[in-house]
Amino acid sequence: MGSSTPTDTTWQGWGVSPGIAEAEVAVHWKNEEEIPFRTIQTEDIPSEIARFEAALIATRQELLDIQQKIAEAIGIEDASIFDAHLLVVEDRTLIDEALRGLERDLHNIEFVFHQVAEKYCHSLANIDDPYLQERVVDIEDVTRRVIRHLLGQSFDGFHHLDRPHIIIANNLTPSDTALINRDLVRGFVTEQGSRTSHSAIMARSLGIPAIVALPGICSKLTTGDHVLLDGYTGKLIANPSEHTRVEYGQIERQKIEIEHQLDSIRDTRSDTRDGRHIILSANIEMPEELPSVAESGAEGVGLFRTEFLFLNKEEAPTEEEQYKAYKLVAEKCALHAAIIRTLDIGGDKLAHLPDMTLEPNPFLGCRAIRLCLYQPALFKTQLRAILRASAHGRVRLMYPMISCLDELRRANALLSECREELTNEGHAFDLALEIGTMIEIPSAALIADHLAREVNFFSIGTNDLVQYTLAVDRGNERITGLYQPAHPAVIRLIATAADAAHKNGIWIGVCGEMAGEIHLVPLLLGLGIDELSVGTASVPRVKKAVQSLDLQECRQLAEQAQTMANPSDIEQLCRDHAGQRYPELFDC
Ligand code: PEP
Ligand code: MG
Repeated sequence: MGSSTPTDTTWQGWGVSPGIAEAEVAVHWKNEEEIPFRTIQTEDIPSEIARFEAALIATRQELLDIQQKIAEAIGIEDASIFDAHLLVVEDRTLIDEALRGLERDLHNIEFVFHQVAEKYCHSLANIDDPYLQERVVDIEDVTRRVIRHLLGQSFDGFHHLDRPHIIIANNLTPSDTALINRDLVRGFVTEQGSRTSHSAIMARSLGIPAIVALPGICSKLTTGDHVLLDGYTGKLIANPSEHTRVEYGQIERQKIEIEHQLDSIRDTRSDTRDGRHIILSANIEMPEELPSVAESGAEGVGLFRTEFLFLNKEEAPTEEEQYKAYKLVAEKCALHAAIIRTLDIGGDKLAHLPDMTLEPNPFLGCRAIRLCLYQPALFKTQLRAILRASAHGRVRLMYPMISCLDELRRANALLSECREELTNEGHAFDLALEIGTMIEIPSAALIADHLAREVNFFSIGTNDLVQYTLAVDRGNERITGLYQPAHPAVIRLIATAADAAHKNGIWIGVCGEMAGEIHLVPLLLGLGIDELSVGTASVPRVKKAVQSLDLQECRQLAEQAQTMANPSDIEQLCRDHAGQRYPELFDC
């Protein structure tokens, strides 16, 4: 895919987090399939054993360091999740079998250790014991770390960096992204991923420019190479020429100028030109982002993805731990509202809960509300914590992945039980707590009239709605082109849900990434969306877009879009309209 001039080498991926960065490259996270295979001689055995021992020691130290960092940042209890990982580095059965394999097969230690660990995981996964099955995740994680040390690619969240770098990686999981060194990581590029993959969403909320879907890029670049990353257009340029650097310098200055202009509307209302207020709120993944919610000019939190509290954990967080986090969100959003979404673990999110990692088809499996109804104790702990937090601010509660009325009713029944328990225990909570459901499965959109009678609001999760409507894996870079939010089928579902909401007197928002696609804002407003919830970095641009639009015109645009059959024609129609109303936003 690369094209060359005498100096520039350019690759085109998907820009998923805006911004321009230029720095040295650090290549990390090569694919497991890339584990080298070599035959060795008997006399090489001692040096392979020495390398293995050094990697085990380094992995142990790395785990202790991470444990300490987490203890300092979030607390000792959270840090104990790495105890089980530490046990794996000391597991004699695993280590001895690798050493025997080394002597027997005469292959390099990375290869032998990987094979032994895989066999070990396979046997554990087949034992009908949830505890042992859970150990598979720890062993896989530790194996990956040991192999990275053997290959000189250890991962510490890039905290070892002593100067700015751009990270080139096969993929970054949400837990990796959470550990990232925000001071010295200027940008990242991954081989896998899409606009709606979790690492892309995290990059936007951390304000780090990023590109995804550049297959093979890890082997095309070497640590120390110099690159320029354009997170707006998805271009990655190695060895940029002086001409390119000057050109990008100008682009960056222009963008900074526009950012300043956007700053000036931060404290204004997100009203359309004809005076309709559109609630503009922010999506967050962790309470640490609360300061940027206020700075962005958002009206509270439209989606708090609570999964982060459950990630990197051996055990689910306790009611007290969750209560503390939700209370903080409630207090910091006291002027507005905070929508706390109940647990949405599964599929693209790391899950250390029994049964989850072993599902053959996790996106259609026991995830989100299904998992919560399947494990009512886990769910009730979270519901109680959210209810208790509602005493400290305007909290709203939202269920993810509702596919039928029965799920909603069962969730509400458990919520009623929690209300009763808390009342008996003397805990305060908001008696009028508003309950909403996400519309992210086509069936939910189609029965929105039934659902609307039993909730106070809807929020459309377009990331999943597009995925499930079009049968396109939202994280698979090979089919990114088929992931079309402006597909007529998606638009019909949004229109159906919006009509059902309004006929039943409730409001409807969009909290998927589509809400932050500024060219699609006119379409969403025209379809009747009352609230947009976007990553904090997108709030100023979306506010500017809303303020530049006329609702009446948006309705006409939505009507016209609904007569069109072709997603690209609809996209173009929206782009043309948005391009006339706020051309400057397309330059940033
Ligand atoms: C969505 O599906 O659009 C959504 C907001 O939820 P998540 O991205 O967390 O699945
Ligand atoms: Mg979703």
